[in-house]
Amino acid sequence: MLFSKQWFLFIAMAIVGLFSSTAAAEDAHSYARLDEVSTPHLELDLAIDFDRKQLRGFAEYSLQRHSNSNLLYLDSSQLTIDKAEIWQHDQWQPTKFSLGDVHPSLGQELIVDIGSTATKVRIHYHTATTASGLQWLTPAQTAGKKHPFMFSQSQPIHSRSWIPIQDTPALRLTYNARLTTPAGLLAVMSADNSLSDNRDGEYFFSMPQAIPPYLIAIAAGDLAIQAISDKVAVFAEQYIVDQAAWEFADTPAMIEATEAMYGPYRWDRYDLLILPPSFPFGGMENPRLSFITPTVVSGDRSLINLIAHELAHSWSGNLVTNASWRDLWINEGFTSYVENRIMEALFGTERAVMEQALGYQDLLANLELLEPNDTILNIDLGTRHPDDVFSQVPYVKGQLFLMYLEEQFGRETFDKFLRQYFDDFAFQSISTAQFKAYLQRELLAKHPQVVSMDKINEWIHQPGLPEDAPKPQSDAFAKVEQQMNRWLKGGALQTDSWTTHEWLHFINNLPLDISADNMARLDRQFNLTSIQNSEIAHAWLKLSIIKKYEPARDRLRSYLLTIGRNKLVSPLYRELAKTPDNLKWARAVYEQAKPGYHPLTQTVNEALLYNKD
Ligand SMILES: [Zn+2]
Repeated sequence: MLFSKQWFLFIAMAIVGLFSSTAAAEDAHSYARLDEVSTPHLELDLAIDFDRKQLRGFAEYSLQRHSNSNLLYLDSSQLTIDKAEIWQHDQWQPTKFSLGDVHPSLGQELIVDIGSTATKVRIHYHTATTASGLQWLTPAQTAGKKHPFMFSQSQPIHSRSWIPIQDTPALRLTYNARLTTPAGLLAVMSADNSLSDNRDGEYFFSMPQAIPPYLIAIAAGDLAIQAISDKVAVFAEQYIVDQAAWEFADTPAMIEATEAMYGPYRWDRYDLLILPPSFPFGGMENPRLSFITPTVVSGDRSLINLIAHELAHSWSGNLVTNASWRDLWINEGFTSYVENRIMEALFGTERAVMEQALGYQDLLANLELLEPNDTILNIDLGTRHPDDVFSQVPYVKGQLFLMYLEEQFGRETFDKFLRQYFDDFAFQSISTAQFKAYLQRELLAKHPQVVSMDKINEWIHQPGLPEDAPKPQSDAFAKVEQQMNRWLKGGALQTDSWTTHEWLHFINNLPLDISADNMARLDRQFNLTSIQNSEIAHAWLKLSIIKKYEPARDRLRSYLLTIGRNKLVSPLYRELAKTPDNLKWARAVYEQAKPGYHPLTQTVNEALLYNKD
């Protein structure tokens, strides 16, 4: 009996061991099998071919074997694999490979025979013109009109559309790259970009810090460079490079403020790449080179919390990374929290609280649209495309969770905890379960009776918001509301000292039964229809659709035709789709705008405009 008991224990331990060893690598959105063979380093060699809208070349991986498997499992999407080779006996030798069936959100499994002794594998391939992670712009779609432009957006699982790769954030790898472009264009990457004005069409890059695959990024175009400090520069088309350098002049001070709170910036330089207006996101935290929408170059530095956000990812997200897309809140909730702390450190509490309150309002609106299960931080995605997880939930609910912990434990204790967290998990990818175990050990247990694990579980695993969640409220906004009430009764508005935030709060909270006369009165006095601030214009144009305010129609059309940032265009299409006449009008505008939209923006808005029934 003793003997069999021992065997039982042994088997039980083996099963536990099996689960715990695969838990960290468990990612429903990747075919990679990191526990068999992993790829800690990539050598990339690609030609950027604008005529064919194609990247062409090879990806070479060094191999780390954790089992006796002879197979390497990679992710790919719409790639054409030309050949595969392995390095053994001091030479490259052809090897077999196969592609699996196409999965609607995951792409195709690519299996390469790596034998038992090869130390490296090389895959020759080219991309499809429709690669979901790339956008190719014709010269006419750029501001300069003379040269084409291309850029990547790899998060969450679009790296696989331009590199055959183990496309899971649980992997970390370093990379070197050689890129060729037509002469005169500059190529940049999420790596050590040179500030030289050499434009010979051949560029070399190195990223010596191990990063997850979704942070590999590439762009090429007619880029100018403007330094902000010895550590920060702006890369942009000529027309906007000086404006952007002025707009983002606070970036070096943001880096210092973040270092003071959460420890050293570990990525050497921090540069900003300003993309064409079709860039589908506000920003993308590609390490050493954040990709930024030009729609935040507002001329008054009012939208630079976006830079604070992308910079914050240098700690939360890039340094400590979600192990799978179910854990996205570990990237975005922490980053939204850190972003707001940076804004507070630089610009004071009033502005920070206004930004919290605007985010909170967006979250409440978003919670009404989402299915309850999609309002859970540790969301169960199944194999749904992880593009679906990017709602306000991981961002703002995640931020509120950390604000709650700060309130409960006190800022001093919570800051110390966070700083230690960034040190302890630096350059690692962690799951929600790992975070909870760490939180229990390093915060809850050391300060008993403050917050229970039941409360933590409510935040992380239950839908909606807990009863006692923070509800950010701004005094400045309360004053805006008082003014609004007087104005609606015919009084005058005192807006001289209003910031963009106060304007947004004002427009977003106007009563939906506001009269046509009052809409016209506002527009006459403040020229809201022609305002260049992209966020205020967005709020006004959305209201103009609801109120059928026709004088804003031409501006609405030009806005939709020139901006491709999904957060700014998608709510407008959603509103337009609510009535048959507007839907017809919106489809016509969309068809005209489509060639300038990124594939991701196209997918989201076509769902709104064409798959409604
Ligand atoms: Zn983010």
